[in-house]
Amino acid sequence: MDSLENLSKIYEKVYVLRLGHRPERDKRITTHVALVSRAFGANGFILEGICDNKVEESLIKASKSWGGKIDYMCNVNGKEFVKKWKEEGGEVINLTMYGLGVEDVIDKISSVPKKKLIIVGAEKVERFYYDNSDYNVAVGWQPHSEVAALAIFLDRLFKGRELLYNYRDAQYRIIPSKRGKKVERR
Ligand code: SAM
Repeated sequence: MDSLENLSKIYEKVYVLRLGHRPERDKRITTHVALVSRAFGANGFILEGICDNKVEESLIKASKSWGGKIDYMCNVNGKEFVKKWKEEGGEVINLTMYGLGVEDVIDKISSVPKKKLIIVGAEKVERFYYDNSDYNVAVGWQPHSEVAALAIFLDRLFKGRELLYNYRDAQYRIIPSKRGKKVERR
């Protein structure tokens, strides 16, 4: 395992489904959900019910410089997507503060090589997603953010390895430095 794109292949695919995006209110936060998906090793980002060019442009821009081809779909029917994912043998994980603790379920989730669909909401998440997910998972039982919940969940799923790798086709690579900014162009 030597590159970021290979991580999601452990599970065939790891996709993130973002529910309830409101373009006026959620532009930045949905963009951050998309960027965290890519940077933390997921290989698909799905926007339910709507398209938003700003979100797509940010993903394209990040991938152009820093590599990685994340699958992007928008205006998707979330419920149909979940049903199809399950019919195809995939697992569905809904991130919610009301779920079972991530520490208690992550070993079981990560030991199964099925493709994973990780759901994050914006405001209220419909009952359907609680009922049709294989796991409802809490990252602590405090209300916080879909960005934080997703980052921590992916980090646990990939056991921290996503922080060690770059994408193979990256144009730029950061040379870690104590101070300043060192970037290598490849
Ligand atoms: N009360 C909402 C709920 O159902 O969790 C909080 C909405 S929060 C603004 C938006 C999203 O952040 C939620 O749909 C969930 O995906 C995620 N989230 C927030 N806190 C979480 C937590 N403690 N554990 C897991 N996910 C969380």
